[in-house]
Amino acid sequence: MNSFIYSGLPSRVVFGAGSVRQLAAEVQRLGGKRVLLICTPGRAEMAGTLAGDLPIAGVFDKAVMHTPAERVEEARKQAKTSKADCCVVLGGGSTIGFGKAIALTSGLPIVAVPTTYSGSEMTTIWGISEGGAKKTGRDPKVLPKAVIYDPELTLGLPPAVSAASGMNAMAHCVEALYAHDGNPIVSLMAEEGIRALASALPKIVLNPKDPEARSDALYGAWLAGSTISTTSVALHHKLCHVLGGFGLPHAETHAIVLPHAVRYNNDAAPEAMARIRKVLGVSEASAGIYDLEKRLGIPLKLADIGMQEADLERAAKIAAEAPYPNPRKVEYEPVLKLLRDAYEGRRPARPVFVE
Ligand code: NAD
Repeated sequence: MNSFIYSGLPSRVVFGAGSVRQLAAEVQRLGGKRVLLICTPGRAEMAGTLAGDLPIAGVFDKAVMHTPAERVEEARKQAKTSKADCCVVLGGGSTIGFGKAIALTSGLPIVAVPTTYSGSEMTTIWGISEGGAKKTGRDPKVLPKAVIYDPELTLGLPPAVSAASGMNAMAHCVEALYAHDGNPIVSLMAEEGIRALASALPKIVLNPKDPEARSDALYGAWLAGSTISTTSVALHHKLCHVLGGFGLPHAETHAIVLPHAVRYNNDAAPEAMARIRKVLGVSEASAGIYDLEKRLGIPLKLADIGMQEADLERAAKIAAEAPYPNPRKVEYEPVLKLLRDAYEGRRPARPVFVE
């Protein structure tokens, strides 16, 4: 076994059907007496049913995608004027992003109730958009102090959103398997996360109200978030970050790019590929992921989610000029080929970039 460093992050997880009923107790455990409840307009009704049990100081129901700086300022102001001493975030990665933005400057503790599979609730990573660019960073202050995973809250998450969000989580696991600062414990979680997601997502697409599949998918999302909380992400996340700058939707972009990023790294990360093959029961990791996504019925082409062909070269250039550490060297031409394949939604066959 190679040498490694493992550091676990302090977070508390309450998991299970109906566990949201423990929300008030979790807030109390943190000493919260004035809660700012944060959600998107879409989750406002769900938030209303939770608010009854909480010592509410205010409700900010204007969370939106991409955590734009002006909206973040509004939320921070409300946290201050309402004298909140705790944030409860109910929703997907977008909503959790608002709680993190508040915690970043105020240090307020967060109790997260995730309703998608982004995994953001388990990480110290924050992101705020301004002037068309998203600034990101890591800060322990933004890590939720407690996370409540209640699969019952996800029964209404539409199948297409569930599938794309679940593949976003799987991307965290995949990159953790070949992270330069990975370790055997994180790899265990990553492998188990891929297994749980690959088993749950097809069942959710067939029957979105399948309680066991919903539970497995949330478990996979928890593991996925945990894997990237202490390891570095690589080419795949870099590309998705760059493509996000072109206005592409977050989870769908992750889903489309993942099989191609895996193929790119195939020869350079043999142990990770062997784990992915084993857990998916396939003979080739990238094609196995692509075939799973085809079964899920999610978009397979960047062309179908708003990417312009004319922007592919610029995207490849940005990614190659400031790469994240990656098992295989990040170079313009092969990255452009990867993006072209993702643009056209080609099924990755045998790895083509043998060095
Ligand atoms: P999202 O939060 O925007 O939610 C996706 C859609 O699902 C929205 O339309 C939302 O209204 C809807 N929705 C959420 N819960 C629902 C429910 N229970 N029932 C019905 N509909 C529901 O998307 P996301 O993919 O969860 O998060 C994406 C954002 O999270 C991005 O901004 C991304 O950068 C960020 N993110 C951050 C991290 C991190 O570690 N910081 C990790 C992953 C993603």
